[in-house]
Amino acid sequence: MIVQEARKRNVPVMIHAHGDEGARAAVLAGAKSIEHGTFLSDETLRLMKERGTFLVPTFITLEDLTQPGGDYTGPVLELRGKFMMPQAEKVFKKAFSLGVKIATGADNSYTANTTSRISLECAHFVRMGMSPFEAIQAATIISAELLGVEKNTGKIEKDFEADMILVPGNPLEEIRFLQDALMVISNGNIALKRIPFGKK
Ligand SMILES: [Zn+2]
Repeated sequence: MIVQEARKRNVPVMIHAHGDEGARAAVLAGAKSIEHGTFLSDETLRLMKERGTFLVPTFITLEDLTQPGGDYTGPVLELRGKFMMPQAEKVFKKAFSLGVKIATGADNSYTANTTSRISLECAHFVRMGMSPFEAIQAATIISAELLGVEKNTGKIEKDFEADMILVPGNPLEEIRFLQDALMVISNGNIALKRIPFGKK
């Protein structure tokens, strides 16, 4: 009902669903994305491929559950996270092999103290079978498409916003370079600068 009402006003809906039944109903209703999707069946994944529904695995958030500290902590969450991670990995691999659109995302407050970051999500994607280039696209051009801002950002091109990060090495060779952003440029403005350029 929410998806139908939102559609009347052209508002896309993202659905956080771990279970297959709810996610499948959301896909059939026309949701733009499924967050988590931990227990998605192959059939629902095929449906997502058919309908262009995005999958946002939030693997880093599941990992956060399993460890003390971070945004989520507690013995029950730890057990849940450890149970969900292998399952989520299976779903990711199936979704990737079917060609479902996969975007990065985190299900946390993303504060300065948050350790579950998109750079780590990219590293998980590579560990689970994506090439570094595909993982970077999941975090940039695919995510921009999911959020409906693909005409403004998500790639480096003329007339696009200059949204860029500077990292200390080539992430196509080692995806973990993304975890050490030395500079963040947002729409052409330097938002973060960790190294004093030009100084000896
Ligand atoms: Zn969620």
